[in-house]
Amino acid sequence: MLNALSIDVEDWYHPELVREHVDLAQAERRVQQATAPILELLERHGVRATFFIVGEVAQAAPELVREIARRGHEIGCHSMSHRTLHELGPEAFRAELVAYGAAMARLGVGEISGFRAPTFSLDQRSAWAIPILAELGYRYDSSIFPLRNPVYGVSGAPLAPYRIGARDVSRADADGALCEFPMSVWQAGPLRVPVSGGFYLRALPWPLLRGLLGRINAAGRPFVIYMHPWEADAGTPRQGGLSLLARWITYVNIESTLSKVERLLQRFAFGPLRDALAARQGQSV
Ligand SMILES: [Zn+2]
Repeated sequence: MLNALSIDVEDWYHPELVREHVDLAQAERRVQQATAPILELLERHGVRATFFIVGEVAQAAPELVREIARRGHEIGCHSMSHRTLHELGPEAFRAELVAYGAAMARLGVGEISGFRAPTFSLDQRSAWAIPILAELGYRYDSSIFPLRNPVYGVSGAPLAPYRIGARDVSRADADGALCEFPMSVWQAGPLRVPVSGGFYLRALPWPLLRGLLGRINAAGRPFVIYMHPWEADAGTPRQGGLSLLARWITYVNIESTLSKVERLLQRFAFGPLRDALAARQGQSV
């Protein structure tokens, strides 16, 4: 079964837990050097992935975008500014998408069909984003986290890819404007265990992660893994001012992320989201 691998290309100061403590004018950009080892790892294993790139990063590091495209990876949109959909509202969101399309066209990157909202901020309150994405040519979204935690999530949302509409993002909608690839969770009774990436990827011991992902495939569902370049970069600055919990969530096991991802590449089949969705539906998205 073809699973999806995604890299959300943002810098170490973009996550919400970190950004509020950072003087952005002074912040050292590391995204290029943090992304390079990921590109090398994928090349070594002959794996293509989806890179959801923040527009501000693309503008500051155009050669990185060209390099990702040159290596045959899919490029998707991770917003212009990494502000959440709730911060933006419909008008600013639309303006960001239009600016994003123009910026990518200037870089020679053609059609972009996939979107991932910063901080998984697509939920019932921001469902207005779905028709805007469809109108601007997007074919799929991968922003729904199908459990609720204090920061994000849509409890009860489907676990497998589904058609999503603006009426109710927590249910499959045959008339929905987009295809949705939700973050992967393992369900045990009423309990949903996140295994999709980021902190969960770093924190879960390898045998448990491997076992849960294997069970998702055995249940007939592809999974999607997400990671960030700063999560695989030993040089990621450890920002001061974070609470102990926020510090742990943000930085735990960064030094072993790449080797864990390499084990995943050896164990499971991966491709870009576009391909994983097409393989599931027998059609292009
Ligand atoms: Zn992000």
